Amino acid sequence: MASKTKGGSCCAVASCIDYSGKVKNLGKDISFHRFPKDLECKKKWVLKCRRKDDWNPNSSFICSDHFTAEDYVRDLKAELLGYTPRVRYLKPDAIPSLNLPVDHTQTDEVSTSTLNRRNRMELRLKNK
Ligand SMILES: [Zn+2]
Repeated sequence: MASKTKGGSCCAVASCIDYSGKVKNLGKDISFHRFPKDLECKKKWVLKCRRKDDWNPNSSFICSDHFTAEDYVRDLKAELLGYTPRVRYLKPDAIPSLNLPVDHTQTDEVSTSTLNRRNRMELRLKNK
């Protein structure tokens, strides 16, 4: 299976198309976050990514599209002075919660194609 991680930093989330080159072109304010060192926390991040290929979380990133404002450590100095901090830091217990591949609790259109593919594969298996 082709790896999504080739060619610079990109988001580890299976359904996410954000990677550094494209983000720059769109002028979007996206930052990439390394997986946490804490094993329990890292496990949760890995689950959220829903990747089926062989990948290494230790060399992967998740983009800021998957975190809410509350997941970030507040930069009081930036808030006071009214600028957007260049580097944003996640709280140690932040877990990706936005724009994630579909799971049992929610449905969204992004993963319809993945679902269709899966259904087709299941049909093929049944026909055997
Ligand atoms: Zn992403």
